[in-house]
Amino acid sequence: MARTRERGWPPAPDPLPLPVVDNHTHLESVAEWLADGWPADPPAGAGRRVGVDEHLARAASVGVTRMVQVGCDLDAARWTDRAVREHPQLLGAVAIHPNEAVLHAGVHEVAPDGLDPDPQPRHAVSLDDAIDTVMLIARANPRIRAIGETGLDHFRAGPRGRGVQRDSFRAHIALAKELGLALQIHDRDAHAEVVQILLNDGAPERTVFHCFSGDTSLAQVARENGWFCSFAGPVSFPANEGLREALRELPPELVMVETDAPYLTVHPYRGRPNAPYLLPGTVRAIAEVTGRPLVDVCADLSRTAESVYGGW
Ligand SMILES: [Zn+2]
Repeated sequence: MARTRERGWPPAPDPLPLPVVDNHTHLESVAEWLADGWPADPPAGAGRRVGVDEHLARAASVGVTRMVQVGCDLDAARWTDRAVREHPQLLGAVAIHPNEAVLHAGVHEVAPDGLDPDPQPRHAVSLDDAIDTVMLIARANPRIRAIGETGLDHFRAGPRGRGVQRDSFRAHIALAKELGLALQIHDRDAHAEVVQILLNDGAPERTVFHCFSGDTSLAQVARENGWFCSFAGPVSFPANEGLREALRELPPELVMVETDAPYLTVHPYRGRPNAPYLLPGTVRAIAEVTGRPLVDVCADLSRTAESVYGGW
C-alpha cells in the first residue's frame, strides 16, 4: 500500500459526453489518501489529504456527477449516514461487510490467503446489534437506498467465518426486502453459493452484483433473474477476457458501472489510488467491449442507476 501511495493520483481522464453514476464507491477511505500527484490548485501541500468536496468536484468535471457511497462497517455506515445528507451528489448504501461480520461474531481465523484480521473497537458490538444499527440508519435516512455490500467472501473466510457470512448475508437480504431497498452483493470466489442463497431466500427486487467477477455462466444466471451486474476497473485489465465475455452476455439494461474506490483502479493505473473521477476509463472499456457508442452507454448507465436507486 505505501508504495502505491507514493506513485500518487492518476491524471484526470477526458470528460464523458453525458453524466454517469458511480454506483459503488467508498469515499470515507478515498478521502484518507494524500494529495500526491493531485493538481496544485488548490496547493497540494506536503502531507495534505484530498477532501470529499475536492473529490466530488473533480469527478463532476469529467462527467461523474452522482455516486452511491457505500459504508459497510459500523464506522463507515455512520459516516455515510452523515455524508449523504450533506452532499446532494450522494445516495448511500449501508451494511456489515462479510469480512466485518466475521469479526463482530468473534471469529478469529487466519484467512486462506494468510491475512490475520485485526479487530477494531467497533467489533466489540455483536453481529446482531451491528445489523440492527444498519437497519436503524437505513430506516431513518431516506437517502440510504441500498443495503450493501453484503455477501460471501470465500477468499478471506475460513470454515467458521463462512458460516457467519452466510447468516449475515441472509439477514441483509431480509432487511433489504423489509425496507424495500436495493441489495449490493459482495461475491468473492463464492458465485454458486451466493446464487443458491438468493434463489432460496428470494432476491430483493433490485439486486446488484457489485464488482461483478463472474464468467458467462454467472452472467446468464443474472440475466435470467434480472439481477444487475456492476463492472469495475478489472473489466479493463488485459488478463480479464472472461470478464469481458460475461459483459457481452448481458443486456445493456442490466449493466452498471462503479469504481469501488479506493481499490481496483482502471487500466493502466492499476495499483495507484482510485477515486470516482477515474470512472470514465471503465465506462469507455464497457463501450469498447460491447461495441456500442459511448454516448448511448452513458445514457443507459444513468437510466439504470436511477431505476435501481431512485432519483438523487
Ligand atoms: Zn466495495
